[in-house]
Amino acid sequence: MDEPGEVGAVKPLPYGRQSLDEADVKAVVEVLESDWLTTGPKVGELEASFAEWVGATAAVAVNSGTAALHAAVFALDIGPGDEVLVPALTFAASANCVLYQGATPVFVDVDSETLLVDPRAVADARTPRTRALVAVDYAGQPCDYDALQAAAPGLPIISDACHAPGAKYKGRAVGTLGDLSTFSLHPVKHFTAGEGGLITTEDPALGEQMRAFRNHGITSDARTRELEGAWYYEMQSLGYNYRLTDFQCALALSQLGKLQSWVTRRRTIAGWYDRTFANAPGISGLTVRDDVEHAYHLYVVKVASPSVRERLFKHLRGEGIGVNVHYIPVHLHPFYRRTMGTSPGLCPIAEEAHERILSLPMFPGMTEGDVRRVADACLSVTSH
Ligand SMILES: *Cc1c(COP(=O)(O)O)cnc(C)c1O
Repeated sequence: MDEPGEVGAVKPLPYGRQSLDEADVKAVVEVLESDWLTTGPKVGELEASFAEWVGATAAVAVNSGTAALHAAVFALDIGPGDEVLVPALTFAASANCVLYQGATPVFVDVDSETLLVDPRAVADARTPRTRALVAVDYAGQPCDYDALQAAAPGLPIISDACHAPGAKYKGRAVGTLGDLSTFSLHPVKHFTAGEGGLITTEDPALGEQMRAFRNHGITSDARTRELEGAWYYEMQSLGYNYRLTDFQCALALSQLGKLQSWVTRRRTIAGWYDRTFANAPGISGLTVRDDVEHAYHLYVVKVASPSVRERLFKHLRGEGIGVNVHYIPVHLHPFYRRTMGTSPGLCPIAEEAHERILSLPMFPGMTEGDVRRVADACLSVTSH
């Protein structure tokens, strides 16, 4: 495909990609050569460092962003008979975590300009059974948290911040804006452990509950028992094995040192895209409110119609440019249609948007030339 000398051959460009260096590899190898492969000292080190990086009181490490969401729903003591509001335009895990605890996700629509959960839709959907809202900081832009709190006074918020480490809302850091905030360490996200997740909270008691939850609901781990010379433990609640290994924590710790510069780099890349599309007819980036600092997990463009989106998608993929659609509204997935009876028309704004949006490549290793190439390929479709 990428034969040397082949005329016009260019390297395929993924939509997202991790950045790893020698220091990351060394950090992992050091742990592999140590005594603790899991439930060792790197777990607490990652938790303390990430809490400090965010400016949160506590952080808990788990083995995926999905496990982080599950732990958050568990910590809020949500179960059968309870409802949790979830925006329709998100990754399925934002809603699946509610089902894991036997509760019911209730889908709410998004704002047409930002594609963030619409506070009016939240107010309309709240019932006496509503126990929480999952606020997804879509693409890396924080939700309007003040408006959400005003729309649903007293309703606990799980901030699904998997797209948004490093983002700010009115000067306040993502990771401190919800009762609990969840992050993912998947390679396509801002920093990685291969797989992994983190939850931040201002409530240390919730933190302790989630630490037990990731370890079968057992209230002390093997290392603590070994350090204390004790054998006794009790299972207090139904937990899972959601533990993150020490070598993964070491990788995340090493990556964390570079996270701020990567967030800055993502903003620079978004600025290049913004400038290209600012005066281009038929294609535009999503609206960014002026009270936020965006973290740009995704750079999402919107075009005039579903047929233009299909043409654009095919053209870019044909050019070796990795583009994706984020997301199929969760309530339109066959599983949700079948089990919850959801169907088109439930969240019309999300449904209309998902046929007109496309996520362009966005990762710190991109060059200005890469952005030019993607933008030119877009304009060659949308300007005709
Ligand atoms: C990535 C992601 C998740 C799940 O994270 P995993 O680490 O892949 O389990 C949840 N919510 C959103 C919005 C995500 O983008």
